[in-house]
Amino acid sequence: MAHCDEGYLCQVCGEEVKRIDQSLLYLRYVLGWITVDQLTKQPEAHLHCAPTFAQFILDPDFHCDLPLDPALCKQQLDAEFRQARETLITAGYHRLKYLQKHRRSLSITQYPILNQVVSIDDTPS
Ligand SMILES: [Zn+2]
Repeated sequence: MAHCDEGYLCQVCGEEVKRIDQSLLYLRYVLGWITVDQLTKQPEAHLHCAPTFAQFILDPDFHCDLPLDPALCKQQLDAEFRQARETLITAGYHRLKYLQKHRRSLSITQYPILNQVVSIDDTPS
């Protein structure tokens, strides 16, 4: 990852998190849940190793095969809350996919989605 020569290790499977679009920490960062300082201090995990988050990512490219505690399953949630969460976390994942391709042209403070008035695919003139 950008902040370190070696990628951070996933606390679930122990493997290196090699891509930004696999990173739970960066997902939380682009959603504004953690600050840039916390990126280097909080435990890292693959998105596909974190089923409590992964269940909200609605994308054909994304797969998570880990079992989820039924008590934490999104089916337990109120439908409106569940949809809002799916929309938010899927948007975060799409942002990570975008960053995986374009992060060299962005500084880390530009990673978060913010208010997203402009489409992330628009290049500023
Ligand atoms: Zn993992």
